[in-house]
Amino acid sequence: MRSDDIHTAQRSGDLDRPVTKSMCYGARGKCPSCGKGRLFYRYLKIAEQCDSCGEELHHHRADDAPPYFTIFIVGHVIIPLALAVERIWRPDMMLHMLVWIPLALALTLLLLPVVKGSVVGLQWSLRMHGFEYAASRRFKQNSTGSSNIEPV
Ligand SMILES: [Zn+2]
Repeated sequence: MRSDDIHTAQRSGDLDRPVTKSMCYGARGKCPSCGKGRLFYRYLKIAEQCDSCGEELHHHRADDAPPYFTIFIVGHVIIPLALAVERIWRPDMMLHMLVWIPLALALTLLLLPVVKGSVVGLQWSLRMHGFEYAASRRFKQNSTGSSNIEPV
């Protein structure tokens, strides 16, 4: 995006992509742009585009970040709880395994889409990867009024 394009985009509000709002929409499984369309078409599969506003969502490169952050969060929840229970009640090791393993699995499966949606929302907000190209392409279409798609 050229600097005069950026200034024009700032005036038109095209650069307005609040990080927190986009990440919250993504965490709820909604499109980071409009907050209405679905972000996922299956459990962890990101939709090609928003079914409400048409925003291209396939540009994300979440890769290993969601599992990494999910493991980080689950570990910081489960391990202190397990240590506290061990210190207070000293239950049998089998009881530990029966409680903490299913709890860790359930928490992981619940958090993975939330974290992945947040990461995709962050990438969309910061125009990372292909989101930059999609935004500049849409901006050019809006500013020229043409429907031609030109790479920037
Ligand atoms: Zn949308």
